[in-house]
Amino acid sequence: MTVMNITLPFGVIKDISDYSRFINEILKFDITLNILKFSTGTSGINLLIDIPDDKIKSITESLKKNNIIVNKKGRIIIDTEKCIDCGACISLCPTDALNFDSEKRLKFYYERCIGCLLCLDSCPRYAIEEM
Ligand code: SF4
Ligand code: SF4
Repeated sequence: MTVMNITLPFGVIKDISDYSRFINEILKFDITLNILKFSTGTSGINLLIDIPDDKIKSITESLKKNNIIVNKKGRIIIDTEKCIDCGACISLCPTDALNFDSEKRLKFYYERCIGCLLCLDSCPRYAIEEM
């Protein structure tokens, strides 16, 4: 399974029927849809969904066709002054974007980060910030 971070822009999702249409669009792919996180941001509804690996390409294409934003880029920054390399954030990251280097220091792999923000609240030192 792969976690996808998507935004349903307010201009696209105006009411519950638009939301149902979007959900049905994904369910057309005959998958079990797990919604891991649901939140509203300034530009729309943010969803973290868990989908089968073999459906990523087709679902991404379908979402984009329906003007849904698929967020792929890294969206966090680690404050190395505050980080004490405790590793609490590592186990929450679904893509291995956070891991230890050979010297047991926390390393952030920007290209792997899908911006799910699951790590954000895990840090006891508030060293993880949203970009
Ligand atoms: S936001 Fe945090 S938990 Fe999510 S992929 Fe990026 S580093 Fe991992
Ligand atoms: S949870 Fe915070 S302090 Fe611990 S390794 Fe991650 S960023 Fe550093």
